[in-house]
Amino acid sequence: MARPDLKFGKKLKKYGAVDFNACYNCGTCTAVCALASETDSFPREMVRYSVLGLDEEIKGSLKPWLCYYCGECSTYCPQEAQPGELMMSLRRYLISRYDWTGLSGLLCRSLAAYAAAFLAVVAGLMGLFFFSGWGQKEWMHYGHLFEMAAIGGVFAFILLPNIVRMWYFTVWKRKKTLRMKTYLLALPELLLHMFTQKRTLSCNDERDNTLWWFEHLVLVLGYLGLLFATVFLDWFASTHPVVVAAGYVLSAVVFVVTFDFVIRRIRKRSEKSVFSHPSDWFFVIWLFLMGISAFGVRLLVDLGALAGHFWLYLLHLTVLVQWALIIVPFGKWTHFLYRSFAMYFDRIVKMESPAA
Ligand code: SF4
Ligand code: SF4
Repeated sequence: MARPDLKFGKKLKKYGAVDFNACYNCGTCTAVCALASETDSFPREMVRYSVLGLDEEIKGSLKPWLCYYCGECSTYCPQEAQPGELMMSLRRYLISRYDWTGLSGLLCRSLAAYAAAFLAVVAGLMGLFFFSGWGQKEWMHYGHLFEMAAIGGVFAFILLPNIVRMWYFTVWKRKKTLRMKTYLLALPELLLHMFTQKRTLSCNDERDNTLWWFEHLVLVLGYLGLLFATVFLDWFASTHPVVVAAGYVLSAVVFVVTFDFVIRRIRKRSEKSVFSHPSDWFFVIWLFLMGISAFGVRLLVDLGALAGHFWLYLLHLTVLVQWALIIVPFGKWTHFLYRSFAMYFDRIVKMESPAA
């Protein structure tokens, strides 16, 4: 039998939820949601679970990930209970439940913890700067090694175990299935959503939503391309004209698109940007800083002026280390990963259901 957590509402507010207790269960939000269906009924069900404090049901549900935050439900909610923002808060909350380290939850609940983590990185790099005796060559060499080690380490020790935990809560506890055929047949769902997020287009037919989807797609491709160029093709040291040009284009894509995202959040013109959690700001601002500082460093390399402005590389490295050790494993970046796996797991659960 489900055990309600009486303090759940209070807990959820720390993850950004607002006013969901005002809900009087009319069902308008589910009726207007273009992504809800008979089998996937939300957001009302999630609002009810949250009001009742049904923590275990929420932990085992993939529905918060099926929402792409178009904001229609919040627009039409007669009680202004902000069901769209509740779905977003539940995603943040779920990340904290998947994360075995507990750091995702800590950072999400506390701005001071975020500040302390960012400052710890600055202090660590300043310590290296004053005591390592490294010159420009060593900094760039170890900076590049860090990028490679961070990708492998964060994935192997944080993200992979967390995905396994997510699978355990949402698939194994519900279906107890390990039929290899189902996992293989559902695999295209993972790749499709990871690289296209095409479900956003079903949200509604407003022009703004299509533009938002397109910008996200360009950003994902730009970010992954820049990651590949810097880590595997060593963009800062490369002399290959195609690699150099591609790096410029990809880093420009990253900072131009994220600049637009920052402006959208400041203007709050659409429902999805009315509320911004600190983790939303950190994600867009750090991505912007990474793109623009990478572009600047490479420009200095090409102008032969890096030695005189080496502070820019150190700034880029600081942003990069904060991004790789804080935002990627514990911050908003993980939404990209967990949402793609949620689509995959949801497909598996449906394929294993008797009606499928
Ligand atoms: S529309 Fe608002 S009041 Fe009605 S069920 Fe949804 S959240 Fe509750
Ligand atoms: S924000 Fe949009 S997709 Fe999400 S629950 Fe509301 S109407 Fe559905």
